Amino acid sequence: MSGIHLQLVTKSFNGTTVLHGVSLRVAAGEFVALVGPSGCGKTTLMRIVAGIEHADSGTLRIQGREATALRAGERDVAMVFQSYALYPHLTVAENIAVPLAMRRLNAWQRLPLLGGVLPGTRAARQGIAAEVAMAAGALGLGTLLDRRPAQLSGGQRQRVALARAMVRRPAAFLMDEPLSNLDASLRVQTRREIVAIHRRAGAATLYVTHDQSEALTMADRVAVMQAGRILQVAPPREIYADPAELRVATFIGSPRINLLPAEAGTDGAVRVAGLPVGLRCAARGALTLGVRPEALVPAAQGLVARAEAVEFLGESVLLHARHESSGTPLVLRLPPEAAGHLPQPGGELHLAFAPEAALLFGPDGARCRA
Ligand code: ATP
Repeated sequence: MSGIHLQLVTKSFNGTTVLHGVSLRVAAGEFVALVGPSGCGKTTLMRIVAGIEHADSGTLRIQGREATALRAGERDVAMVFQSYALYPHLTVAENIAVPLAMRRLNAWQRLPLLGGVLPGTRAARQGIAAEVAMAAGALGLGTLLDRRPAQLSGGQRQRVALARAMVRRPAAFLMDEPLSNLDASLRVQTRREIVAIHRRAGAATLYVTHDQSEALTMADRVAVMQAGRILQVAPPREIYADPAELRVATFIGSPRINLLPAEAGTDGAVRVAGLPVGLRCAARGALTLGVRPEALVPAAQGLVARAEAVEFLGESVLLHARHESSGTPLVLRLPPEAAGHLPQPGGELHLAFAPEAALLFGPDGARCRA
């Protein structure tokens, strides 16, 4: 069982439980993004895997080894944080080389019989230089090796931190919001570099972010966490298009999914404001119907709504409206050419959606299927 394997991990701080029996598996070679609102326990979970924090109960295995009792340095994981944590007095090359030098030092300390003579010193030095050059080259730092952190931009510093994690060739990478200090365009570019490092290393990567576009674009699977529990773990397409429950559907997607009050009659047909919407549901009574902004469109007939505002985004237009009978706010994402044909604020319009694009949720928030 390679990779990271957490089972029923709990953690409390001062009597307040912040992790309620979390189980999660990140296979070797897999990239799992952990997303969730602020304070839901993402960083705590990550710190437990790193060995900075200890779980109250549950098990943690890294590369098949029980890791709970291992010290942070023995876990074969490399962490990259939002703050770069570089040594200010060392050059870029020296900063990247730190884990390699430490490893050598550790090996040497375990060989006291050699009388303090570091075996193969020259070859080892050359080996370290080659590793540093490879990592620096992969991250575009080749020309900056002699600089010190103060002489680098934020993006360059974060790359040094990534290169330093990369040379360790760990079994697992733990990354906690590593891009949040970078500006938007650098963030997008560095996303690809991180995924490339992950693929090359074949490591298990657990990546914490509050930015869901980062999670959806980078991860093989996305784990959605809320209030100390993992609600769903699934590939990005599935978590967006086929969420297991209402809390996942509302957390993922920007703008947020439209939610309309609905009901299923005794015949099983689902109606919104008395209007059949072409869906059936096994549950009866009050339901919630979810429609993504891009799945809701102006139509000749359908739900009656009133336009409120238009936002032009370049590649699309957002139309904000309000469902007339329930007063629910709605948002439509339309192609930019639609901008010229939309009603003025206050104008009435009809809205429709394809039944297969709608998501139904029962009174308990679970998905409700026909
Ligand atoms: P963010 O996205 O804001 O970083 P998060 O999901 O990473 O949030 P955590 O940092 O794991 O959340 O915190 C989870 C909860 O545990 C929070 O309520 C936090 O205040 C609390 N917490 C975390 N560390 C400690 C600590 N050392 N002592 C007491 N409470 C803590």
